[in-house]
Amino acid sequence: MIDPFGRTISYLRVSVTDRCDFRCTYCMSEHMTFLPKKDLLTLEELDRLCTAFIEKGVKKLRLTGGEPLVRKNIMHLIGELSRHLQSGALEELTLTTNGSQLARFASELAGHGVRRINVSLDTLDPDKFRAITRWGDFNRVMEGIDAAQEAGIKVKLNAVALKGFNDHEIPEMIRWAHGRGMDLTLIETMPMGEIDLDRTDQYLPLSLLRSQLAEEFTMNDIAYKTGGPARYVEIEETGGRVGFITPMTHNFCESCNRVRLTCTGTLYMCLGQEDAADLREPLRASEGNELLNNAIDEAIGRKPKGHDFIIDRRHNRPAVSRHMSVTGG
Ligand code: SAM
Ligand code: SF4
Repeated sequence: MIDPFGRTISYLRVSVTDRCDFRCTYCMSEHMTFLPKKDLLTLEELDRLCTAFIEKGVKKLRLTGGEPLVRKNIMHLIGELSRHLQSGALEELTLTTNGSQLARFASELAGHGVRRINVSLDTLDPDKFRAITRWGDFNRVMEGIDAAQEAGIKVKLNAVALKGFNDHEIPEMIRWAHGRGMDLTLIETMPMGEIDLDRTDQYLPLSLLRSQLAEEFTMNDIAYKTGGPARYVEIEETGGRVGFITPMTHNFCESCNRVRLTCTGTLYMCLGQEDAADLREPLRASEGNELLNNAIDEAIGRKPKGHDFIIDRRHNRPAVSRHMSVTGG
């Protein structure tokens, strides 16, 4: 799959549910209206869709959400998808999770061939953790990370940089993560969906954070890539890596290799644009994949050049109306 700008699409992210057991303040409002269950694709349909993408050249598949591990019988889907790892068609099957269910599922995930996962963690302070996630339990997430590492899964941490919330804590988080063999990636907040807070108050440009970190650490740019949009540095003092995902201050769209599928079968060709393609109808219209494949080709042919995220006092409206939990991180 090659888009109009010559970018090869080899990475599919699938939001398997829009539901979540947390309510992170930058991601959701406290009282969310979720999709009616009847609108969701079944696990079999999700499998069929993912398989169609793999046959078209997707090499990396990331399950996300919402919280992927709260979708009922999600382990069944992961088990089924692992056949593509065994056949060699798929290079990596991974997920992004808040960690709340990891203690329960880590060994099964490892058994299905999941080698690396991203766990979102914005603070090491249990009270602050409760404040930012509204509903999360810090100790459960720690148990989840322990379980994943014990099962031999490589954990990367994702932290959203939030002004006045965790900016001063980031050096400590870096030392902690690196001490446990985990990379840490920092993410700028993106204006997606209505939340209860003012995003201008939360937004912290990573360029600023990076110069603060440079006062404390020796950071060397490295070419390391995981297939995602992060740019990495190695920290001399710890020997570990820190990634920067900077959708706001540095547009990384020129190397975009991904598309995103929602749990209702809508394909978003860009996280920051409203344009989308419905794949549910062609999926359900026939048992063969001809209609579906045509719809995928047509959608890839419409992949836009990039997003136009802005957060400032004059643009204090979401750039896109849907929440991050719909398209997945
Ligand atoms: N529930 C899982 C989790 O938290 O890892 C997966 C879905 S979550 C939407 C994926 C990632 O998106 C998380 O790392 C989260 O911190 C991040 N995220 C959510 N809303 C965001 C926003 N408005 N801007 C930037 N990152 C956001
Ligand atoms: Fe849930 Fe992840 Fe959004 Fe937090 S960031 S509310 S854990 S989907």
